Order: sequence, then C-alpha cells, then structure tokens
Amino acid sequence: MNHFTPITFLLFAALGNISCVKAQIPFPCDTFKTPASKTLTVYYIGHGSLAFAYDGYQIQVDPVAKNGAANLDYSAFPKADAILVTHEHFDHFDPKLIGKLSKEGTSVLANKTSAEQLADGKNNAFVVSKMANGDERQLTESIRLRAVPAYNTTPGHLKFHPKGNGNGYVLDFDGFIVYVSGDTEVVEEMSQLRKINVAFLSTNQPYTMTPEQCVVAAKIIQPEILIPYHLGNTKTDAISEGLKESGIEVRLFEVLR
Ligand code: ZN
Ligand code: ZN
Repeated sequence: MNHFTPITFLLFAALGNISCVKAQIPFPCDTFKTPASKTLTVYYIGHGSLAFAYDGYQIQVDPVAKNGAANLDYSAFPKADAILVTHEHFDHFDPKLIGKLSKEGTSVLANKTSAEQLADGKNNAFVVSKMANGDERQLTESIRLRAVPAYNTTPGHLKFHPKGNGNGYVLDFDGFIVYVSGDTEVVEEMSQLRKINVAFLSTNQPYTMTPEQCVVAAKIIQPEILIPYHLGNTKTDAISEGLKESGIEVRLFEVLR
C-alpha cells in the first residue's frame, strides 16, 4: 500500500485474513508478502502478545497465559524457535508459559531484568539471551532483530517504564519490517525508525500512549499499517480520526485490548 493513498481503512476485524485462519490457531491473523516473495503470518493474540511465523520459524512476542480475566489458549501453536520479551511486567512476561512454548534450544531474547529472572530457573530447554536497547541479533538467514528503547516521558509516569529497562523490537523479515513498540510513549528514537511496514503501538493510560500520542508516533514513524495494541479501555476513535488523510492504514483488533 503506498504512502500517498488518501484513505485510512478502519476495521474491527473479527477473524483477520482467511488464508491463515485455516491453520486452526484460534486467534485473528494476517498474512503479508515480503520482498523475498515469502509469506509472513502475524497472529493477534491479546493485549501485548503477538506471534509471527516465517519460513518455518516461529516467534512469540510477550506470550502470557492471561489477559485480564481471559485465558489465552496457546495450545495450537507449534513450539517457538524464538520468544521475545519486552520487559518484566506481568502482562508481558510469563515464565511458566515461556517454558511451555519452548523446545530444546528455543532462543529467549529478553530485556535484562526478565532475562535474569529466567536464568534463575534451572533445567530449562530454552537458551536466554539479554537484549539491551540497540542490540541486534540475526535469528535466521532471513530474520534480523533489533531492540529499541521503550520508556515513559510524561512526568509522574516515568516510574512505569524507566528509560533503558524495556525494549521495543524491530523485526526484519527479508526486508519487510515490523515494529513492536513495547510499553512506551513517544520517544525521540522513533524518528530513527525507517521503512516500517507494520507498526504495533501501545496505547493505554496511564502506562503507555494516549490515542493522541499514538497519532503523533504514527506520523513520526510513517508505517504503511498501524495496529494500535495494548489497548485496555482505550477509545480508538481519535486514532482513526487523527490519521484520516495520512495515508497510514489503521487496523484495529478487539483482541488486542
Ligand atoms: Zn509495562
Ligand atoms: Zn504492558
């Protein structure tokens, strides 16, 4: 989708794309073609939890078994090759589920605080690796990962996510770039993000962005597609309204509350 299309699509999708639904994984999903003509499948699981499948490689992002009162059923997912953890808050970090989703050699890439908590547990099949802001890893020949800063900037909110602790992640699938913001407000480092195809931006108060901040962030980042996530009770009208005419496509998924 080109950046100059003066239309913002708005949908509260119930099921997402039909071609990935038949994989029997009970979450909405979408597929995207990468420049290598391969298919990236993205699963919208809940709140801050996502999954990616590419080239036979399975990635879970911030998998947690509970979203508020709802139990999230991961049993249909294959074991993960990589599990990314943005930070140690309970809505992003669930050591027990990380264990369940792992097989021998699963790579858990986590911010320092979460990584240290996992390293304390012995006899794990997975291998833990600390990711600081700016760290990069080549996950496969086709998939590159970079950790980027995620933090609060509003006075009174700084304690939620202090600068330097948590990560957002930029995933490069053969040149198709996905940004998962983690828990952050608008930060200056966002202006360095380039050619983002899909951006997940955390939008709920008081922990992350307001809808208005989400619009500001989207205008800085200029993704082709914006998917507000980590929504809680956020009213999303202001996001769609604020990006009308921007050429950025807004996709909304009720499960990402
Ligand atoms: Zn948090
Ligand atoms: Zn959170």
